[in-house]
Amino acid sequence: MFVRVHEVGPRDGLQNEPEVVSTEDKLAFIQRLVASGHRDVEVTSFVRPRWIPQLADASEVLARLPRVDGVRYWALVPNQRGLERALDAGLGHIATFMSVSETHNQRNVNRTVKESLAGVRQVLGSARAEGLGSRAYLSTVFGCPYEGPVSVSKTVELGLALLDAGADVLALGDTTGMGWPALVQEVVAAFGRAGVGPELLALHLHDTRGTALANAFAALECGIRHLDASSGGLGGCPYAPGASGNLATEDLLFLLHAQGYETGIDLDLAVDAAELVERALGRELSGRYFRQARGAQARRAARTA
Ligand code: MG
Repeated sequence: MFVRVHEVGPRDGLQNEPEVVSTEDKLAFIQRLVASGHRDVEVTSFVRPRWIPQLADASEVLARLPRVDGVRYWALVPNQRGLERALDAGLGHIATFMSVSETHNQRNVNRTVKESLAGVRQVLGSARAEGLGSRAYLSTVFGCPYEGPVSVSKTVELGLALLDAGADVLALGDTTGMGWPALVQEVVAAFGRAGVGPELLALHLHDTRGTALANAFAALECGIRHLDASSGGLGGCPYAPGASGNLATEDLLFLLHAQGYETGIDLDLAVDAAELVERALGRELSGRYFRQARGAQARRAARTA
C-alpha cells in the first residue's frame, strides 16, 4: 500500500525558524528532498513578505527550482493576490488555509471564519479555473489553543464547503498537537458520514505533546493515505515562542516502512536532507529518528578516524 508523504519542511518548517536561511540553502535543501524521493514538497508561501521575512524569496525560489517529472511543488496562498504571484512564478499547486476555530482564525489572519471561508472559496475557484492543483488546510481541527475543544460538525461543514469550492484535498491540521487517536478516528468517520471518503483527506500533524505518530497510525487505520511531515521535525524550534513541533518526516517514514507501507522515499537520503538544513540553521533538529541516525553516523566516523 502506498502512502503519499507531503513534505512541508521548506515552508511550514522554516517559517517557524527564527534564523533566516539563504535562498541557496533552501534550493539545495529542496533538491535534496526531491532526490530522496519526495514527490510533494511545500516549498514556500506567497503571503506578504513583511509578514514572514523567512519566505520573502518565494518567487526567486520557484524561479530557480529545477522542474522534475512527477514532482509537485506547492506553495501557500492566502488570497487572490497571493494566487496571482504564484501563477506568475509558474506554480502548479497551491494550498489555502483557514482555521475552524474563530479565535485562532482572528489571531492568525485578522478575519472571521466566515470572511476567511468566502476568500478561500474564491481562491480555490480561481485555482481550479487556472488548472492548478489545490489543497485546503483547515487548522485547529483537533483543538484550539485559545478555545479548547473544536466542534467536529463545524469542521465537517467547513470541509464540505472547501471541497465544494474546488479543493482537490482537504488537509486537516492538528495545529498545536492537541489531538489523540480516537479523536482522529471520530473526525474521519464524521467526514465519511457526510460522503467524504479518506481519499479526499490528508492529515497535518504536530508532535507538541508526543502524539503525532499515534495519530498518524490511527489515521492509517481508518484509510488515510496522505500525511504531512517536516524534515528533521523542522519548525519545532525549542527557543521560539509558539514552537510548532511538526511531525518529523524520518519518524513517519520509519513507522510507515516498518508497517509495510511504501512511500517511494529513501529514509537514509531523507536523513541527508535534514542534515543539510540542520547545518544551514546552525541548531540541532528535534526529529528522533534523525538524531539517532546522525548520532550513529558520528560514532562510526569516530571509530574509523
Ligand atoms: Mg505545521
